[in-house]
Amino acid sequence: MVDFTFTEEQEDIRRAAREFAEKEFTQELAIECDREEKYPRELVKKCAELGFHAVAIPEEYGGGGYSSIEQMIVMEEFSAVNPGLAIACLTPIFGVEILLGYGSEEQKETWIPKLCTGDAIMGMANTEPDAGSDAASIKTKAVLDGDEWVLNGTKQFITNGSVADFILVTAKTKELEWKDRHKAMSYFLVETDRPGFKATKITGKLGIRASDTAEISLKDVRVPKSNLVGEEGKGFYYMMEFFDRTRVWVAAQAVGIARGALKLAVDYVKQRKAFGVPIASFQFIQFKLAELATKIEAARTLTYRAGAVQLERGKPDPMLSSMAKWYAGEVAVETCDWALQFHGGYGYIDEYAINEFYRDAKITEIYEGTKEIEKLIVARNILSMKF
Ligand SMILES: Cc1cc2nc3c(=O)[nH]c(=O)nc-3n(C[C@H](O)[C@H](O)[C@H](O)COP(=O)(O)OP(=O)(O)OC[C@H]3O[C@@H](n4cnc5c(N)ncnc54)[C@H](O)[C@@H]3O)c2cc1C
Repeated sequence: MVDFTFTEEQEDIRRAAREFAEKEFTQELAIECDREEKYPRELVKKCAELGFHAVAIPEEYGGGGYSSIEQMIVMEEFSAVNPGLAIACLTPIFGVEILLGYGSEEQKETWIPKLCTGDAIMGMANTEPDAGSDAASIKTKAVLDGDEWVLNGTKQFITNGSVADFILVTAKTKELEWKDRHKAMSYFLVETDRPGFKATKITGKLGIRASDTAEISLKDVRVPKSNLVGEEGKGFYYMMEFFDRTRVWVAAQAVGIARGALKLAVDYVKQRKAFGVPIASFQFIQFKLAELATKIEAARTLTYRAGAVQLERGKPDPMLSSMAKWYAGEVAVETCDWALQFHGGYGYIDEYAINEFYRDAKITEIYEGTKEIEKLIVARNILSMKF
């Protein structure tokens, strides 16, 4: 018998997260951050002080000590209220799993407690202008010079790039044949106040405009030898493991966005009248709502099953995580599309919340592996299975 119920404690966390988001993610703030691409620093700090973003970080470093499931619950609830503010509030620790898994005690003790209190913000930088899905084809280099690594390169689309205190940056420490390029990559902890580090905020994003995204340039940035994270040459493997773990989190974000959009659609169709009746009374609209609600339920079940398997086994199931991410992302995009359609012309105007949901949803099909890359992972697993 499969039990998909949440514990009482998990329901308490869900309630607390929902109450926080409903109180703090005001429509006024959401519109301001969306229109002006403003990073909501005060809100991010308040959220950190209440422990929401560090809910899954071990207690010894100042976190909540809960699991990835509680982290997914917070993400789902926040995203259902406002996806842009949700992602700004919950990513100040983006990449922390790599630090927790492979960082030195000194690196962890210096940074993780500050991340938990909201006194520090981090990021994780791999993507480059010419290397995204093919993550091992980066050009950024790190060369050892005495007791220091010297980094040179450019990173693209880095979440928190212009607000972070430090970033985990991938760089090649050796030149290998193309087929072995995965073995050349290492992670470095780069404090953003080091000479040669420059972040340029990227404006004009389609959605999640409250979240900071930047291009990073590294020009002869020197970090001590001790800033290498984990072992030299293992960066690609750390990154793949990180994505297998965190894809369920993006899937939870997508489920939250879909749920929030469905709620906006239901509220609207009940009060909007056409041809003398509420538009909710048209059977086409009812059928579409039924289809969307069913798909959201399926995406939600798959997402938490992927999360639960990860927790039970102590390691992710890459196929399930990828299935959850592409499917939930697609359901979020489809739900937002129909929810906006039901708003008619009003949905096209950014005063209506559905407008932002529609634009925010798309990112769930792009970052942390595009939906095509997720499907490649699923297909690779299926083709190697014995039926
Ligand atoms: C808002 C935002 C925040 C981000 N935050 C971060 C961050 O914090 N850190 C970071 O490192 N990166 C970050 N990214 C980058 C993101 O992870 C990449 O954009 C993504 O992985 C895709 O890479 P790309 O943009 O280079 O697209 P490409 O890899 O060039 O892909 C272009 C298209 O080709 C398809 N494609 C590529 N290869 C294949 C294939 N083998 N088979 C089929 N189709 C394929 C893709 O699916 C896509 O549709 C962020 C991006 C955005 C937009």
